[in-house]
Parts: sequence; structure tokens; C-alpha cells
Amino acid sequence: MAVTPPRVLTIAGSDSGGGAGLQADLRTLFACGVHGMTAVTAVTVQNSLGVTGYTEIPPEVVAAQIEAVATDIGVDAAKTGMLASAAIIEAVAAAVDRVPVGPFVVDPVAASMHGQQLLADDALQALRTLLFPRATLVTPNLDEVRLLTGIEVRSRADQRKAAEALHAMGPEWVLVKGGHLWDDPECLDVLYDGAEFIELLGPRYDVKHTHGSGDTLASAISSQLARGADVPTAVRFGKDFIVRSVAAAYPLGGGVGPVSPLW
Ligand code: PLP
Repeated sequence: MAVTPPRVLTIAGSDSGGGAGLQADLRTLFACGVHGMTAVTAVTVQNSLGVTGYTEIPPEVVAAQIEAVATDIGVDAAKTGMLASAAIIEAVAAAVDRVPVGPFVVDPVAASMHGQQLLADDALQALRTLLFPRATLVTPNLDEVRLLTGIEVRSRADQRKAAEALHAMGPEWVLVKGGHLWDDPECLDVLYDGAEFIELLGPRYDVKHTHGSGDTLASAISSQLARGADVPTAVRFGKDFIVRSVAAAYPLGGGVGPVSPLW
């Protein structure tokens, strides 16, 4: 009989187009050799052209999914994606206090790449005050940095300032992703633990199909945290993984296709 692989829980929304959200998470977790589990937070109506609507799962059902898998299967690491509302964030924060979920990665998903809102306005404060202090790592892109801190990042120096502002909100580590710093010829991500800045530099590909890239990165990082890797090691793995996944992205439908964890 085969042994049980490390177990990772994603607390995230469904993308009916299969590009982002929990579908991207499960695909990535499988490719990384770990067992993926899901606490579904919302069901989006989505294709390659964008999100046209979503419905939220009741907060107590989100919490019950987390507790059901944690009390039987066990969770070696957990990550969050689209959390939709302040009430769901409150339920998630309470659930991860009640049951052990291991290292906890918070990807503060606020909007889709097409600009559709995936988080209610009043939920940003819940993210800052309830989830960030519980997080091992938070992984905002530059749009999320602006929403969370008010800092408009225009340079690599601004990325460091943003990392300090986010770290003050309570997470152990912050990864400020530089993918949206379009003028930068390379793609720099800044990792910060309150003491040391670690710079991760990668190529910038001029590609259209990048749907689900944030989810894929956070899932790849979580897979390594579940194996017991420290945060810098897990983030370096995730960075390498997402660079390869962007290079392997494929067209789908009439809009934006997904990155692919199979390369
Ligand atoms: N839909 C869901 C359910 C998501 O979780 C996300 C991102 O996390 C998106 C859409 C947006 O993905 P993208 O920014 O790649 O469009």
C-alpha cells in the first residue's frame, strides 16, 4: 500500500472555467505530489472572458468543511484564495483557531485579472485584522497591496515599503509579488519577515495567458510548507514553479487561458 502524501487544504472559490480558484489549486497540488482538499467559499460563474457572477457558501458550511477534513484526514498546510465576504473570513479565522491546519498561507484575493471584484468592500478590514495575524505568509499582488495598505507601488523600493507595512499587520512573512510592475524588465518578488528582505528575481514573459497564476503560486508554496520546508525554501520552489507554469500556459476560449502546472 502506498503511503499517505502530505495533505494541503485550500479554502477558496470555484472557477467554472477551470482556470483559477480551487480548480487551479487542486491541479497544482496534485502536480506537486500532495493530497489536496477543499473548503469551498464561493461558486463563481466564469469563463475565459471573466466572472459574471458568484454565490457565497454559508459561512458555517465553510467552517464545517475545514473542521471535517482537519479532524479526520489532518491538514499539514492550508491556503486561502477567494473568501468573498467578511462573514466567511470570520468563520475561517474561528475555524483555524479550533482545529490545527499547520502553516497558513493567505493569498488576499480581491479582484480578478479582468477587474471584477471577488471580495466585498467591508471584507478588507476583516482580512487585515482577523487573517493576517494568523498567517505564516501573505502573498499579495500590487493591486492587493494598494487596497490593503494604500501604497501605490511604482518601484522595487516601494515594494520593500509595502512589505514593511503589511508585516506590521501581523503575518510572520510577506511576499510582495512584482508581476504587475509592468515597467520592470524582470519580475521581482520581495519576501520579508520583519528583519531581512529576500529578493527573488525571475524572467518576465510577455504572455497573455496568466489566469490562475496567483493561486498556482500559493498552492505550490503550500505544498512545500506541508512537507516541512521553511518559508524561504518553499517560496523559492513556488517561484520556480510559477515561472515554468506561465511558460506552459495555454489558450482557452475567446479570452485569457490558464497557466499550467504540467511542463
Ligand atoms: N476566480 C476565482 C475563484 C479565484 O480564486 C481567482 C483568483 O484567485 C480568480 C477568479 C481570478 O484569477 P485571475 O486573477 O487569474 O483572473
